[in-house]
Amino acid sequence: MTVPTPTNEPLAPMPEDWRRALAVVAHPDDLEYGCSAAIAAWTDAGREVAYVLATRGEAGIDTLAPAECGPLREREQRASAAVVGVCEVEFLGHRDGVVEYGTALRRDIAAAIRRHRPELVVTINHRDTWGGTAWNTPDHVAVGRATLDAAADAGNRWIFPDLAEQGLQPWDGVRWVAVAGSPVPTHAVDATPGLERAVRSLLEHRTYITALTDEDPETYCREFLTGYARTVGARFGGRPAVSFELFGR
Ligand SMILES: [Zn+2]
Repeated sequence: MTVPTPTNEPLAPMPEDWRRALAVVAHPDDLEYGCSAAIAAWTDAGREVAYVLATRGEAGIDTLAPAECGPLREREQRASAAVVGVCEVEFLGHRDGVVEYGTALRRDIAAAIRRHRPELVVTINHRDTWGGTAWNTPDHVAVGRATLDAAADAGNRWIFPDLAEQGLQPWDGVRWVAVAGSPVPTHAVDATPGLERAVRSLLEHRTYITALTDEDPETYCREFLTGYARTVGARFGGRPAVSFELFGR
């Protein structure tokens, strides 16, 4: 895959002329590590946002077996979504850590896009790294790429004809796919109004965060998110911000 060269060019504001967004990511917490301040601002403005997660994140906590971990992380994700005004959260049930890019995943995501009929689709970094040599995880790469593909699949009645037989009619209304966490972002959203809720939203993943760090969970969440927003803000007029790599359709 050819990756655009990272630049320090200013980030453009995200498009605002849309009503419904669907965020499709791999794991509980993928949206909360950076993106949810933007989601809070969108739901504040009366836009509808729903979440679809490929897995329940059941392989994410070393000390907790998957059978116990999955339901717990599902509950934490629902609570986390509610903090930023999102009440529809769906889980596709792929196995955490071994999500495979392919037609099964594209089909599941295309079905979700047809159910929700969004104009904006948000996903997680599909590129090999987070920038430099920080290697990305295979689940993010698989889900990000499958989501970029499924935005088109959702509009084509012949690619997955069984979806229409189940009553899911083609939806060709996706206008953009916005990739959160991309090392080569192009657009941004002001994080200021949503930042405090983003901190509380990440904090809802308490079991995961407590297993991850000995730091006070609230301090950890606040420092991570304000640091990230400040870094993005250097390319967005000095305002704390959330960045996206935006693909138009
Ligand atoms: Zn993840």
